Amino acid sequence: MPKNTWVGDNLTDVKIKNRSLVLQLLKKRGPLSRIELARITGLTQPTITNIINDLLASNLVREIGPSETRTGRKPILLSVNDQAFYIIAITFTRQGFSIALTDLGPNILFRRDSRYSLLEDTDTALLELQKEFIHVLEYATQSLSLILGIGVSAPGPVDTETCTILAHSTFLLHRSLDLRKYLREYDLPIFMMSNADAACLHETWCGSAKEVQNMVYFMVGEDVGAGVLIDGKIYQGKHRKAGEVGHTSINIFGPRCVCGNYGCLELYCSTQKIVEKAREIGWFGGEPYFRSFLERGEQLTFRHIVEGAQKDNEACVQLLTQLGRYIGVGVVNLINLYDPELVVIGGEASLAREFIDRPIRQVLEERLLYREYITPQLLYSRWGEGCDASWGGITRA
Ligand SMILES: [Zn+2]
Repeated sequence: MPKNTWVGDNLTDVKIKNRSLVLQLLKKRGPLSRIELARITGLTQPTITNIINDLLASNLVREIGPSETRTGRKPILLSVNDQAFYIIAITFTRQGFSIALTDLGPNILFRRDSRYSLLEDTDTALLELQKEFIHVLEYATQSLSLILGIGVSAPGPVDTETCTILAHSTFLLHRSLDLRKYLREYDLPIFMMSNADAACLHETWCGSAKEVQNMVYFMVGEDVGAGVLIDGKIYQGKHRKAGEVGHTSINIFGPRCVCGNYGCLELYCSTQKIVEKAREIGWFGGEPYFRSFLERGEQLTFRHIVEGAQKDNEACVQLLTQLGRYIGVGVVNLINLYDPELVVIGGEASLAREFIDRPIRQVLEERLLYREYITPQLLYSRWGEGCDASWGGITRA
């Protein structure tokens, strides 16, 4: 059903909207005093007093003491009471899933990682998820009433309305999974997003993008996709499938992708492709570092390539330089499309930031349209691997 965009706000809606505004402001810029909240929001002081009284009563906000910066009567500062409530966070990747209990801030209180993959054995992975879910509840047994909900992120495509991970050739999942069905008995609200969207949103809440209204989170791991923030909101598109930059073609004569398109960006810059390339160089080119893994029967990973580059292995440095150039092409496309003020590179590839940063910036200098006029910031996710990406902050290269 299409959403009715002609709906007005009644008084209750306005109250909720203002409450949410104050809460978001405290989350992003807090601690703040009541006077500062009134000044920034333009709401009257009595309105702010009422909202704060409600938020204090529900324990979502707390008073943390007088401001130290002013002379005279010092106003009391308020902040979000991060430790008062909990959220259960579930992140799926191609290799498995993680489940964690977090507070309302970025703190993980309890975490379990599982190597059961939805792609390899869907039923076993779902059974494991239910088991691990119980472990989290056992950990939180004294505080079950304080758990506000479940946040789920998964590699696309997902249906955020129905909390379903959709079957699709790009994710190689053979049947769609309605997560509500598996977690129904706990009677907690469930919210779902793609990994890239969740990571993008996280940066605006807890990372260095708190004041940013337009940004792109470019997630480069085994999958390649983007979370796009436009005017402070995640842009999902009509069918909530926006941001699939990994499946934009950069070579129409390139190899066929599982999506049906040819020469998709993901075929050149996913970390899986870089590892495949290293294996090829090991087998057919005889490069000793890569070959040694193959001969020992040890799985060669992207992390090994980064470690090799850190030890000045030329083949590893070359592979990561090439990766950086391809990521640069993706960043150019994203900036030309969305004109963001900030691009964050996340996912496993960000582990290699010391090797990919220069080639990315070179490609930007050579190929970005309007490069004389626009200077978007480029930052890297502090946490490299997929599972952590949606929980980590970001850092400069
Ligand atoms: Zn594709």
